[in-house]
Amino acid sequence: MDKNLNPNKIAVIGAGGVGATTAYALMVQGVGSEIVLIDVNKEKAEGEAMDLRHGASFVNPVDIYAGDYKDLADAKLIVITAGAAQKPGESRLDLVKKNTGIFKNIISSITEYNQEGILLVVTNPVDILTYLSYKLSGFPANRVIGSGTVLDSSRFRSLLSKNCNIAASNVHGYIIGEHGDSEVPVWSLTNIAGTKIENYCPICNKGCDEHDLEEISDQVKNAAYEIIDKKGATFYAVALGVARIARAILRDENAVLTVSSLMEGYYGVENMSLSLPTIINSKGIERVLELPLSEKEEKEFKDSAQHLKENIKELDI
Ligand code: NAD
Repeated sequence: MDKNLNPNKIAVIGAGGVGATTAYALMVQGVGSEIVLIDVNKEKAEGEAMDLRHGASFVNPVDIYAGDYKDLADAKLIVITAGAAQKPGESRLDLVKKNTGIFKNIISSITEYNQEGILLVVTNPVDILTYLSYKLSGFPANRVIGSGTVLDSSRFRSLLSKNCNIAASNVHGYIIGEHGDSEVPVWSLTNIAGTKIENYCPICNKGCDEHDLEEISDQVKNAAYEIIDKKGATFYAVALGVARIARAILRDENAVLTVSSLMEGYYGVENMSLSLPTIINSKGIERVLELPLSEKEEKEFKDSAQHLKENIKELDI
């Protein structure tokens, strides 16, 4: 299937805050040996590529350059970060009209040159744009991925890590559903050092109650608003999340990540893209996991789907 692709080549469309930082994260972590940056603002893409390239002597060999759509013909992975970003006070869904227009052009430019790569959508609202990309590209569902709640799950783990004073790598937890206001923390599967959180709390002895835990998931939900208010944009953590997904694909890892992908009846949800824990490898999506959720979590996941469905209806996709 991949005969025309370079398995180590990544294209990043959109060289703004998220795209340029993603290229930096990929470069520093040695994910991919060829990275092409594409942006309507060619000068910006060229400037970012030059700046990144000048660090080449400090990292693993990598060819980074600004290019055009024809340069993504052999890219294994195409990351899309192009489009408008949230302004202070704007929700991710407020971006929907602006960015669906931009995506119609971008997806047709991609498919003109590349029919075999994997699309990784980062632009918001990421779930709607992942579904739109699936519909417009004609790619099979396993090759159209959204960064989804990978960032939110990382925020969740890092806030729990700080609260519980345990390394984030020993804290496991997932945020599922929409990457946005209706996202769902899966407390019933959250564990620290292999122990369910409800059993770990008495061991930790810090005395957190349900209210304290809810506060943590509320902070995850509101993190982007808070950061945008303070610094105007978010890009570091999402770029690391994108690099994590890219690594799982290029290294064929079978890593479990909460990416957004086509729902095919999971918990009764279909015909849209949402995040669930998903096995990721060189094929893109190997399998979406329907883990046992609590009744409350399952209902919240379905409500999240319903909330998004209303927005998709307006778009007629
Ligand atoms: P930005 O404004 O810094 O950069 C956007 C870039 O897209 C610009 O350089 C612009 O020239 C380019 N662009 C616009 N239209 C284009 C087109 N048709 N073709 C190619 N390039 C085009 O914005 P940003 O901060 O980088 O954010 C980008 C997107 O990522 C936003 O939608 C933002 O909401 C989203 N985002 C997603 C997550 C996530 O977790 N999914 C996190 C943070 C930001």
